[in-house]
Amino acid sequence: MATHKLLLLPGDGIGPEVMAEVKKLIAWLGKTGAASFEIEEDLVGGCAFDAGGAPISEDAMKKAFAADAIILGAVGGPKWAGVAYDKRPEMGLLRLRKDLDLFANLRPAICYPALADSSSLKREIVEGLDILIVRELTGGTYFGEPKEVVTLANGQKRAVDTQVYTTSEIERIAAVAFDLARVRKNLVHSAEKHNVMISGLLWKEVVTNLHKEKFSDVKLEHILADNCAMQLVRNPKQFDVLVTDNLFGDILSDAASMLTGSLGMLPSASLGAEINGKRAAMYEPVHGSAPDIAGKGVANPIAVIGSLGMALRYSFGRTDLADGIERAISRVLNDGLRTGDIASAGQKTIGTAEMGDAVIAALGKELA
Ligand code: NAD
Repeated sequence: MATHKLLLLPGDGIGPEVMAEVKKLIAWLGKTGAASFEIEEDLVGGCAFDAGGAPISEDAMKKAFAADAIILGAVGGPKWAGVAYDKRPEMGLLRLRKDLDLFANLRPAICYPALADSSSLKREIVEGLDILIVRELTGGTYFGEPKEVVTLANGQKRAVDTQVYTTSEIERIAAVAFDLARVRKNLVHSAEKHNVMISGLLWKEVVTNLHKEKFSDVKLEHILADNCAMQLVRNPKQFDVLVTDNLFGDILSDAASMLTGSLGMLPSASLGAEINGKRAAMYEPVHGSAPDIAGKGVANPIAVIGSLGMALRYSFGRTDLADGIERAISRVLNDGLRTGDIASAGQKTIGTAEMGDAVIAALGKELA
């Protein structure tokens, strides 16, 4: 059996708490012979800054390049609010994404029927929802140059961010979306603002051409990003795969995440190009370090457990185990087990470690 080289970066706040449950699951998979892992661990974010003055060390970056996949917990917190911009905890994350060229961010938004009542939308709108947002992650407004604040002659300041995309950047992210749609419901929505942004015009043109040349079997719809935000809360089940740029993707995927009830449920994957049969990949929960509940043992570990599930699916080809983990999560929820973030008023809640144990026990039943 292949041994999977995993780098674990627990990070800050609830990151280490939820990562402890991933470690338990990895140990269980190893012990039962279901999968074999070689594990490295390092610091990222505020804890890395405290230890070495940078949000990620060169040594950790080396381990990141050597790993088959990375699982990251979360970074940041009020403790580092005053740290210089280029040393902020989030810069550790951005460096990993940029240096490993993780250009495709996959964010599934799945609404488990047992949790439909935790969504802010009506049950019939979200029950059974299963959409995948494919966000471009290394280009666009967050990285475009110039990115600066200049002081004008009249003493005012002028801040500039630049939205910039090239043909190849758009083609490679659109290709990921079309490929994934083929193994789902075969529908891609491409969201941009071609009515007011020249980069949106190029985005639409490139996606249309790529579709005609290589993916005409997939159904393609173009949608303006603002309308897309509206449709996500009006009728989200109309979507299957949604591909969009870095900035719109950030916003649309956060909106989609709320359809499912809680941030604590949502995994994500960031993938790079395939080189010599290996694709750089980082998996992480969508949520942050949740300083308000850190250290209390109450964080929901399902998002990071689901992130390990995505690693098994997209990096290690273990669809059997990835499906098993999803079914185990469903089973635990159907059994009525809830951490605080997904409990209804008055419902009994369990802590992080109990939820991790419950998922492992359920996985044992699923794989038996
Ligand atoms: P957050 O996601 O940390 O928390 C938002 C709310 O959701 C909080 O009330 C929190 O308690 C709750 N929550 C989040 N994850 C949960 C879980 N697993 N279980 C139960 N409840 C959960 O967002 P925030 O408060 O805006 O940010 C806190 C810090 O995290 C900031 O420093 C921010 O920069 C950072 N952040 C990091 C990442 C990342 O590491 N990828 C992402 C977002 C925010």
